[in-house]
Amino acid sequence: MSEKNLEALFLHSLKELYFAEQQALKGLPAMARAAESEELRSALEAHRGETEDQIRRLERIFESMDQRVEAVPADGILGVIKEGQAVLERFAGGEAFEAGLIAAAQAIEHYEIARYGTLIAWAEQLGLSEAADLLEESLEEETDTDEILSEIAEAAINREAV
Ligand code: FE
Ligand code: FE
Repeated sequence: MSEKNLEALFLHSLKELYFAEQQALKGLPAMARAAESEELRSALEAHRGETEDQIRRLERIFESMDQRVEAVPADGILGVIKEGQAVLERFAGGEAFEAGLIAAAQAIEHYEIARYGTLIAWAEQLGLSEAADLLEESLEEETDTDEILSEIAEAAINREAV
């Protein structure tokens, strides 16, 4: 019988986040290629590298807990990615394409930020300080990326206003 305590919940959510990061890693190259501005392309490419580090950090957490590295499919991230793809298909070639692309990328970041925030709180509650530190490093990368994407979106709006 599987456990239903907080540690089991933490581990389950960690597996879902591991899946989500893998999906993000898969999607980022195509998003970077689709970017029209150099700024957006390089931001997405840089975040691809960070995402690889984040996957490694999650693997280190599994190992530190003597658990096998495992991904559990998470519908939430698949939905976020699917929604973004639908918008991009619909607005391909149009003037709002880049805005849609940024929004799609930020939706992924927001999903990740929510998950990292929860896992950090649980890691602290469980006394898993090494895990909390590793998750915190990744959370910072996600929030920095989110801010950079907001700046790129705002700069584009300001350019259009001129
Ligand atoms: Fe990530
Ligand atoms: Fe991210």
